[in-house]
Amino acid sequence: MANKVTPVEKSGAGSSSAEMDVMKTYVKSKFGYNSAALTHAKVNNVQRERFAYQIDIWTLMEYRQTKKITRPYNGENIPNAANRNEWEFDFEPPPTGSKKTKTDIRTLEQTRWTTICRKCSGFCRYMCSSCKGDGGKPCYHCKIKALTETEMSNKKPCKHCNDTHVIHCTGCKSTGMIDCKSCKGCGKLLHWYEMKIKWYSIHSVTYQSNTKIPVKVIPKLIRKVPEKKDFWDNDQKWAKTDTFDKYFQNTFVKQHPNSHINVDKLTEDFNKKHGKKAKKNCRIVQIKCSIQKLDITEVEYEAKGFTNKEEKEMVDKFKYYVYGKGKKGEPLVYENDYPMNSCGCFGPKCAHHSVCCTIA
Ligand SMILES: [Zn+2]
Ligand SMILES: [Zn+2]
Ligand SMILES: [Zn+2]
Repeated sequence: MANKVTPVEKSGAGSSSAEMDVMKTYVKSKFGYNSAALTHAKVNNVQRERFAYQIDIWTLMEYRQTKKITRPYNGENIPNAANRNEWEFDFEPPPTGSKKTKTDIRTLEQTRWTTICRKCSGFCRYMCSSCKGDGGKPCYHCKIKALTETEMSNKKPCKHCNDTHVIHCTGCKSTGMIDCKSCKGCGKLLHWYEMKIKWYSIHSVTYQSNTKIPVKVIPKLIRKVPEKKDFWDNDQKWAKTDTFDKYFQNTFVKQHPNSHINVDKLTEDFNKKHGKKAKKNCRIVQIKCSIQKLDITEVEYEAKGFTNKEEKEMVDKFKYYVYGKGKKGEPLVYENDYPMNSCGCFGPKCAHHSVCCTIA
């Protein structure tokens, strides 16, 4: 739908219109503004199809990392077809938008599988490397030197080997074999994946308007309106193949086809602030979007004898925007081209329309 232009009666007494009264009240309330510029001013044009939007987007990011765990096999049940793709498992995520990061460790029993123990090749025991399987080693205490006959006759038996010249192997308790500790003597190992999951939310705020109000000013205007108007809320799952423009077209735009929200710009913003944060191990799993709408009336008025310093091509025409009602019911007005205000250069109480005054 095209912007509706509401014609204003050109009665000549434009200054007495309801719109002009709003501007007069505003100028009176402003320090350093002189209302003389409105004395003969008249309203030219009133446009009510004007809006500003605050678009909050939260994406829930999910990071997954798996770690292989190995234990001796103890007769556990082994699933037939183990799926070891880390993104094939479904987990209930925490709510989107939380400022806290949540982490969780999940044991994926469904990924269990077994292998033969490499240490003992499945034989549960392996040869003692210390005695090479002999169970004993030559006694190195009693073969140090050759003894004379006298020495031989006086010699006491070797206390280490009792003159057998073989000492026990402590590594295998003289059995020559060692019980495999890796598989605890069962010959098999059990493996499974353990997954570390981390959830965190990314939040971005975008402002859009079909007025000439600078985008950086819009947050201030929205904050001034006492009653927030929640225009649209959505919270839904996000698949790996989802794209923002499709999501937005299928949800918001379907319900509000004439919203004036620039989807391309919003998509670009989303990709920069959310989409790019997704990596191989980290995906967007949920999206939450909340839109606040500010209904704005744009009024153009003519003040003969005054010059628009902000927009030269406007000549003697000026604009202001009414964007709601304040706490006391007063109309909230935004303008940045009123011709008779003070920038402070001639003292704080001096209102003027000097060419050198650059107040915005
Ligand atoms: Zn000995
Ligand atoms: Zn040994
Ligand atoms: Zn083993």
